[in-house]
Amino acid sequence: MATSYDLAVRAGAQAAGRIQRSLGLRQQIEKTGGAVNIFAAIHELDVPLLLRPLDGLLGAFLNFPSPGILVTTQRPLSIQRFTAAHELGHCILDHQPSLDDDNILRRMPINAEPGQDLQEVEADGFAVAFMMPKWLLALHMKRQHWTTPDLRRPNIVYQLSLRLGVSYEALCWTLVRYKMIPNKQARELLQTRPRFLKEALLAAYTPNNYRGDVWMLTDRDAGARIDGSRNDLFVLKLKEHSNGGYLWNIEQLRESGFAIVGNEVESLESDSVGDPGFRRVTAQPPEEFRGRLILHETRPWDETQSLSHIEMDLDFTGPEEEGLSRAERRRRLMLEAA
Ligand SMILES: [Zn+2]
Repeated sequence: MATSYDLAVRAGAQAAGRIQRSLGLRQQIEKTGGAVNIFAAIHELDVPLLLRPLDGLLGAFLNFPSPGILVTTQRPLSIQRFTAAHELGHCILDHQPSLDDDNILRRMPINAEPGQDLQEVEADGFAVAFMMPKWLLALHMKRQHWTTPDLRRPNIVYQLSLRLGVSYEALCWTLVRYKMIPNKQARELLQTRPRFLKEALLAAYTPNNYRGDVWMLTDRDAGARIDGSRNDLFVLKLKEHSNGGYLWNIEQLRESGFAIVGNEVESLESDSVGDPGFRRVTAQPPEEFRGRLILHETRPWDETQSLSHIEMDLDFTGPEEEGLSRAERRRRLMLEAA
């Protein structure tokens, strides 16, 4: 049984790699940063997809009269993405119709049990390899200067999961599967709940609830794409050269509609006066924010000369809502405008 289980995982992963190559996904993400946009990929592959409230289901794959995918609107974006990838797996691998509930989340490859439905194992193998290919983990780790020993730290694994657009738990088990951490380590990581990590990042600020994610953004995210959801918050931590009179122009954040809920200077761990410190700003995006954020480090008396600046493409419009995916709606609007 184990052999066929392994073969099923491998078949799913191979199919995912083949589809990624046909879409040129790797080259695209190496340019733009960010996560695999599974909904854009599904649209590009011409597979019909609809989002709907689904009673007790995360998603479904139907193949009559023609192939199509349904994904729930009642879960966070990371779960919607993983479900969409799982259903795409069914479609690409020519599977029988499938109604998928929470089991697709519980059934990470590491929890292999004999007698599992191999069609489901294949679809999961596809989803994991499509959303979290090894090259994508390596890309984000290199950009963030994280190494394998850092993956013992829950806060690092959490931030990596946000950049991959997957849940913390899904990433923990995938790290085991890639032999980047031992099984025991994953169980230890899972002792730390994301809620605790969010509280630690937000420090003095208490949001209405902890459903949204909290992104820690630094100059290592410069130029990258950040795909989040409406409830998300972010902490921007930037080196500030106040000794030379330069300060990050937080007004630029306010002008873009962000609410500043925290703003402080952390000094570097150094005794010498005049070293730069870190500006740490906690911000809440306006409703449905999508666009480029640009901040300059300037002298308040001369904002025309900046010492440095940072740009990021932020999209806080998730999760997906009822109807077509955001990727498909945007593509259609572009075609109409052209
Ligand atoms: Zn399934």
